[in-house]
Amino acid sequence: MITLSKKVCLLGEFAVGKTSLVRRFVYDLFDDRYISTIGVRVSRKTVAVPIEEQLAELTLMVWDLAGSEEFNRVSMSYLRGAAGAILVYDLTRANTFDQLYNYVLSLYKVNPHAKVVLAGNKLDLVDRHQMDTGKAEKLATELNAPLFFTSARQGEEVDNLFRHLGRLLVS
Ligand code: GDP
Ligand code: MG
Repeated sequence: MITLSKKVCLLGEFAVGKTSLVRRFVYDLFDDRYISTIGVRVSRKTVAVPIEEQLAELTLMVWDLAGSEEFNRVSMSYLRGAAGAILVYDLTRANTFDQLYNYVLSLYKVNPHAKVVLAGNKLDLVDRHQMDTGKAEKLATELNAPLFFTSARQGEEVDNLFRHLGRLLVS
């Protein structure tokens, strides 16, 4: 059995649901209270991924950080060695989407070959049929990054989001 581990970073504005997505993925839990992340928290979870028609065990070392001020101060050390990133915006706050460009630029400056997936989070709070997804789909195409609509609250697509990134990391 092949085993390997990769660092992935959560990126996105304050309160978009980064910590909640990690918590849902790793512990299958959701908490309504704001879970303040002080400094950096690293969680790990192992997923099965196919490598050359074999199943491998990939341990995702998931790095999660507090608000964007914090990110500006520590971004280089936070991003160093990251094989991939999950870019998160809040479907109820358009300005959190606009900020994603800055996070992508920081990421590629440190790791030009990092793999990226996009998450529009808080799907449970929006009417799917009235969602304006044009800009997000455009960015996804530009970055060649798959786009997921997730709910950390209900769990929708959270597993797929992380597992998809896992598969990209070994492809
Ligand atoms: P972070 O600052 O990006 O780490 O955001 P948090 O994970 O701390 O979440 C910020 C707030 O949004 C908290 O009150 C969460 O409970 C809430 N939240 C996060 N994800 C979701 C979601 O998918 N649906 C809903 N309704 N609330 C969410
Ligand atoms: Mg957080």
